[in-house]
Amino acid sequence: MENKNNMNERRISPQAARMQEILDDEKRVRERMAKVKHKIIVMSGKGGVGKSTVAANLAVAMSKLGSRVGILDSDIHGPSIPKIMGVEGLRPSGGPTGIYPILSGYGVRVISIDLFLENTEDPVIWRGPLKMSAIRQFLSDVDWGELDYLFIDLPPGTGDEPLSVMQLLPNMDGAVIVTAPSDLSKHVVKKAINMSIKMNIPVIGIIENMSGFVCPNCGEKYDLLGSGVGKEMAEEMNVRFLGQIPIDPEISKNSDKGVSFLIEDPNRESSKIFMGIAQKIKNIVENKNDSGK
Ligand code: ADP
Repeated sequence: MENKNNMNERRISPQAARMQEILDDEKRVRERMAKVKHKIIVMSGKGGVGKSTVAANLAVAMSKLGSRVGILDSDIHGPSIPKIMGVEGLRPSGGPTGIYPILSGYGVRVISIDLFLENTEDPVIWRGPLKMSAIRQFLSDVDWGELDYLFIDLPPGTGDEPLSVMQLLPNMDGAVIVTAPSDLSKHVVKKAINMSIKMNIPVIGIIENMSGFVCPNCGEKYDLLGSGVGKEMAEEMNVRFLGQIPIDPEISKNSDKGVSFLIEDPNRESSKIFMGIAQKIKNIVENKNDSGK
């Protein structure tokens, strides 16, 4: 009897309690993610290459192709997905099964740290462990429901957030790598590819964004930032090249308004190119035997 009382009184240390909490979260991540057929991260080595624009519009494109889609903005310090998806300022609600993502006008479910901030201009000043915990909660506490695709927009570089996502989703479908057509971008984007390889995450392929500009007046193409770097890199790294998206002022204008150019002007050249890339990714992911580069 006395022994039993002693057992009841035994306290677990705060460290052990924290560890148990993390294990419980990870178990919930596995349960939630079992309802998501395909998980894809969108990465780049450098900021400003259009990674978030590509991630958001890939989500819209997959939704247009008939899939149930979610997008997780895992950029804690510079989240931009809510603005691009036109859901800035909205606040997710909660219920018995978790936090519900915001449903954008394109049928894409969105979650981002920005949607939880009192003031979206407030900076989030967090170190690694807090960021990792936030990402774990986005994957464990958010009720994404049944999804065909979950896109995860990673912040640029190879820091805490990519590492957390890669560790939490070891069986994801793979990484889409976005680069600009400059040598500088190529240099750092290779690091992102090597990180995926080291973490055993398949590289779905490389997209070269901001690749050339077609003058709307004369129709002439100018390679403002260069062209061909994505394809070169794909060959060097032995991964697929998915395609080139031109610089198109409408892409940026629409993003700023929270509208997708794919919906606003589906017959535009850049919209057609983009939909072609999305279809390619769908084919690769849904037919895993495709090893074509
Ligand atoms: P990143 O996520 O890599 O930092 P963003 O997606 O935020 O980059 O894009 C940076 C800026 O470039 C944004 O203003 C965006 O609208 C613009 N942009 C991205 N891709 C294109 C493109 N193909 N044509 C024109 N503007 C683009």
